[in-house]
Amino acid sequence: MPRTLTRSHALQQRAEKLFPGGVNSPVRAFPAVGGEPPFLVRAEGAYLWDEDGNRYVDYFGSWGPMILGHAFPPVVEAIQQAASRSASFGASTATEGDLAELVVAAYPSIEKLRFVSSGTEATMSAIRLARAFTGRKYIIKFEGCYHGHADGLLVKAGSGVATFGIPGSAGVPEEAAHFTLALPFNDVGALEAAFAAHPIACIIVEPVVGNAGCIPPAEGYLQALRELTQKHGALLILDEVMTGFRVSLGGAQELYGIHPDMTTLGKILGGGLPCGAFGGRAEIMDQLAPLGPVYQAGTLSGNPLAMAAGIAMIGYLQQHRAEVYAKLEKLSARLVDGVAGTAGAAGVPMTANRVGAMFTWFFTGEPVTDFAGAARSDTKRFGSFHRALLEAGIWLPPSQFEAAFLSTAHTESDIQQTIEAARRFFASE
Ligand code: PMP
Repeated sequence: MPRTLTRSHALQQRAEKLFPGGVNSPVRAFPAVGGEPPFLVRAEGAYLWDEDGNRYVDYFGSWGPMILGHAFPPVVEAIQQAASRSASFGASTATEGDLAELVVAAYPSIEKLRFVSSGTEATMSAIRLARAFTGRKYIIKFEGCYHGHADGLLVKAGSGVATFGIPGSAGVPEEAAHFTLALPFNDVGALEAAFAAHPIACIIVEPVVGNAGCIPPAEGYLQALRELTQKHGALLILDEVMTGFRVSLGGAQELYGIHPDMTTLGKILGGGLPCGAFGGRAEIMDQLAPLGPVYQAGTLSGNPLAMAAGIAMIGYLQQHRAEVYAKLEKLSARLVDGVAGTAGAAGVPMTANRVGAMFTWFFTGEPVTDFAGAARSDTKRFGSFHRALLEAGIWLPPSQFEAAFLSTAHTESDIQQTIEAARRFFASE
């Protein structure tokens, strides 16, 4: 029986009157895949329930944070207890140090850090600091990478910007993006040319790209970024908002053995509450106010609810590290290879990219190693695939240019159900 979406439809009508496009973040809308987004009322473990009582297996995990599944009991309890002591003080609490110690233990490159409330704030602040520290203006980012929506970073950005085919963003003065160089990912030659042409303050990179769909770094590429930045006196910022605690407890820098100057974190860090952080070498971080001349601040930074959720989340990941990441690897491999196998058997061109529990099925037979490669995907076919799976109770991110995620709450049976739904879709095409 097809799903009923009566209540979601009514709520969508109201939302479109109140919010541009009916949403409070463009990536939640469904124009790239067609159909209306269901409105959610509750989630537990790997499942989402909408207003009309339909259940979905969740493969976007609130865009990353829900690595232990939704409403994970230790996180829920920590938030409840913290809320009873006050939602915000605007003064220091021990919990900030407690979470910071967990972060520093997992990320040896972070000597000092500062908490903020989103990934956007983290990357924006890290760039300001890198410019102040080096006394240079130019920054390098990569096509298809998304680092939040600060003006200077909305250049050839991924995620919703790529999904909706927006080249940059209206409202960003040319001057604000003038010092941003956007280069192809996985291309060392392009970097050497940029360093030769401009004094570069920093490179900011998603070490495993997630915002053009999942694109792993080529062998030696991150090492080349490290060597080139060192050679030219520029800083290397790894934007691990998505990869942090996801591809490994210590992020992509642990997985690939890279020691950046600065790191940005978000998503999993706050256990689902608004939270981000940027950190790195102490001599760089000490340029921040009140010690140094670089201004950065936040009324809700280090919010006690976010800290409590983060401590419960990161504490659990640390204590159960081996089993968590082994399970994620095993289940993700089975899922990603299983679905790719059904496409292969049906003669549908597909390239599956995966790093741990972060993955994308691209509808192209060519390898996807950069944004141009991702853009060769058949996005119309991805839209049909998305709609068919949603109808079968499986919710993928509603864009070819967004990574999907798996959690420890997913089961073998969820995965079998997903592979079967994919098989049915490819057979029906
Ligand atoms: N950096 C990366 C790598 C991200 O994936 C995102 C969000 N998807 C951001 C920064 C921005 O984070 P936020 O949405 O919390 O501002």
